[in-house]
Amino acid sequence: MTTRYVIGLDMGGTNIRCAAVSPQGEVLLLRRGPSNADSSAPAVTANIAAQIQALETAARARGFGAPLAIGVAVPGPLDVYRGVVMDAPHVKNWRVFPLRRRLEAQLGRPVVIENDANAWALGEFWRGAARGRKEVVLLTLGTGVGGGLIIGGKLVHGKSGMAGELGHIAVDPEGMPCDCGVRGCLEAYASSSGMARLVALRLGRNADLPDRYLDSGGNFSVRHLTSAARARDAVALKTLATAGHYLGIAIASLVNIFNPELVVLGGGVSGALPFMRATMISAVSERAFSAIGAQARIVRAALGPISGVVGAAHAALYPPRR
Ligand SMILES: [Zn+2]
Repeated sequence: MTTRYVIGLDMGGTNIRCAAVSPQGEVLLLRRGPSNADSSAPAVTANIAAQIQALETAARARGFGAPLAIGVAVPGPLDVYRGVVMDAPHVKNWRVFPLRRRLEAQLGRPVVIENDANAWALGEFWRGAARGRKEVVLLTLGTGVGGGLIIGGKLVHGKSGMAGELGHIAVDPEGMPCDCGVRGCLEAYASSSGMARLVALRLGRNADLPDRYLDSGGNFSVRHLTSAARARDAVALKTLATAGHYLGIAIASLVNIFNPELVVLGGGVSGALPFMRATMISAVSERAFSAIGAQARIVRAALGPISGVVGAAHAALYPPRR
């Protein structure tokens, strides 16, 4: 009997992960490639199609049959029902771009498009920390902050699939600038780009951050900031405490609105949570209604970087319906 599988592809700003996923959500095969996000819109699309075809070839070589379905997770607000990317932050050339139609034309098969943060949330819901749960708030803390809401066992899409921009909850309207153009969003504090600005502000300079906060390529890195915090560096400790405080304010609002059983925190920045936890918990307990807060456990995500491909495969198997 041939192995049944679904293709899940997760496109980030730099890399694409593409996987063959079993109908139960296990990753059977995983390939990585560049996302070429700076290329023209047709070239970025052709690159996605080529990586899906390369995965199919690898799957066929192992005796797998044809994929049951194909799910593609991409950054940016998008209309999941029409398969149109409205505005992708990392792909300059995708503006109101009919990605699904273009991919289907190149692949000759139906494709489901999902937002990358929503796909990440679906992965954790299907196979990760939120498995078997029905009421969950999920936040992924990375370069930016994304999220997803599971209500009644279903991902909330809103009118056209753009719901769940949890990184842009206002936590301080007069606060730090956010990449979205306004001030004081959660993302301006609890993401790596936000933390870089907090460190610069605290040091009173814009460039030339000390080496202890930078990776080998000279870029600000939350992993290095966390190491500095471990060595009791005052700026690192204060920055992470500030990030935790604002994260707690956002979580308190989400808890009060949705009464979740679980709040799942993931993404690259979540490695710094031990240094964010005290201020986060105190903001949550100060602001969440105690009866609601008592029912919500805050936990770490479980799947790591494969969550997006698993969630994209879930979206393909159970496409969003209006
Ligand atoms: Zn924002």
